[in-house]
Amino acid sequence: MLVVQKYGGTSVGNPERIKNVARRVARTRDEGHDVIVVVSAMSGETDKLVKLAHEISETPDEREMDTLISTGERVTIALLAMALKDMGYKAQSFTGRQMGIITDTAHTKARIEKITAERVHDALKEGKIAVVAGFQGITAGGDVTTLGRGGSDTTAVAIAAALKADVCEIYTDVDGVYTADPNVVPNARKLEKISYEEMLELASLGAKVLQTRSVEFAAKYNVPVHVRSSFNDNPGTMVTKEDREMEAVVVSGVTCNKNEAKITLVGVPDKPGVASRLFGAVANDNIVVDMIIQNVGEGGLTDLSFTVPKTDAKKALDLTQKINAADIGAKDVSLQENIAKLSVVGVGMRSHSGVAAKMFDALANEGINIMMISTSEIKISCVIDAKYSELAVRVLHDVFELGVEQVAA
Ligand code: ADP
Ligand code: ASP
Ligand code: MG
Repeated sequence: MLVVQKYGGTSVGNPERIKNVARRVARTRDEGHDVIVVVSAMSGETDKLVKLAHEISETPDEREMDTLISTGERVTIALLAMALKDMGYKAQSFTGRQMGIITDTAHTKARIEKITAERVHDALKEGKIAVVAGFQGITAGGDVTTLGRGGSDTTAVAIAAALKADVCEIYTDVDGVYTADPNVVPNARKLEKISYEEMLELASLGAKVLQTRSVEFAAKYNVPVHVRSSFNDNPGTMVTKEDREMEAVVVSGVTCNKNEAKITLVGVPDKPGVASRLFGAVANDNIVVDMIIQNVGEGGLTDLSFTVPKTDAKKALDLTQKINAADIGAKDVSLQENIAKLSVVGVGMRSHSGVAAKMFDALANEGINIMMISTSEIKISCVIDAKYSELAVRVLHDVFELGVEQVAA
C-alpha cells in the first residue's frame, strides 16, 4: 500500500512530539507500506513569521511573504527526517520544489496545478520514507508560493491523488471531525464518517480541521481521507462519498467563521451597473467575495453589504473607496470586522423543511440579531456579531440535538 500521512503543527510542536511522529511513521513503514509524510510547521511558527512581516510592512509584498512563511515547513521536514534516520530508517526530506508541486502565481493562496513527483518515486523505490514540506509549492517560473493557511492538508491530499495512494491520513490534535469544534462545544460528538460535500461546507464555513481545498481535491479524485489524532490510536472520521445513512441526519454539524469582514455602502444610487463595476474590480484584484446583500431601494438610494476574507479587508476597503469616489457615489463606505458567520450543515436538509426557521428561532430566543442570511441546498448561514459566536454555536448544537448524550437518548 501507499500511505500518505499528514501531521499538523501541534503534532510536530516540539522535539518530543517530532520523535513521537517519527515512531508512528516508522510503525506504518514496519507494516510494509510505502510512506509519504507531509508535515506542517511547528505550531505557532507560521503565525510568528506573519507577525514579523507585519512589523516590517503594513502590506507585505506577497511574493516575499511566501518566501518567508514557507520556511517553517523546511524546519520540520529536516527534523523529522533526522529523527527517522536516527531510528535506523531510510528517509529523505523534500521541499515543495523538490517534490515538484507546481502552482499558479497567486501568492499566499496559490492553487496546485500539477505534481511532477519525479524524485519521490526514486526515493520510494529505494525504500525511503519521503518527508514532504506541506503548504508550499513553486510556480512554473520558479518562485516559491504557499497554499493559504492550513494548506498542508491540501498538499497531503493532492499528493495522495496524484500518486494514487490507498489512503490519506490527516493526523491532528483532535480525534476526528466533530459535530462542532470540540474546543468550543464540550459535548460535541465525533462523526464516524462524513460526506465530501458536507465536509466541504463545514471546512469552508469555518471548521479548520481540514482546509477547504483539500476536501475539493479529495472529492474530485475520490481520495479516502481519514482524520484522526496523532496522540492516540482511536479510529477517527472517514471523509467519503455520500451514502443513504447520511441522508437521514438533518444537521450534521454547526460551525462558525470569524475570518470574514463586512463592507457596507450606504446611500448607493439605485441604477444599473453599480454591482457590476464594484464586484468586477474586486474580483480583478483576486479578492473572493462571499455573501452579498442589497436592500430594496428607497428614494433612488439603496444599501449594499458584502463580506470578504479578513486578510483582504484593508485591500477591499481601499478599493471600494476608490471606485466609490470615481464611479459610484455612495454616501458612505464602512468596514466592520467584528462579525461571525454561523452555519448549520447537513445533506438531510435537502429532504427536510423547517431547519432555517428553527435556527432563526433559536437565535432570536437568545436575543442575537441576524445581519445577513445565505442558504444552499445543504447549509444555512447567518452573519451575527462576533461576540455571540461561541454562545450561538452551543445553542444551535443543542437545539439540533447533536450532543453525545442527546443522540444516546
Ligand atoms: P493542524 O495543526 O493539525 O492542522 P488545526 O488546528 O488546523 O490542526 O485543526 C484542528 C482544530 O480544528 C481542532 O483543534 C479544533 O479546535 C478545530 N475544529 C473546528 N471545527 C472542528 C470540527 N467540527 N471537528 C474537529 N475539529 C474542529
Ligand atoms: N503552517 C501553515 C499554517 O500554519 C500550513 C499548515 O499548518 O497547514 O497555516
Ligand atoms: Mg490545519
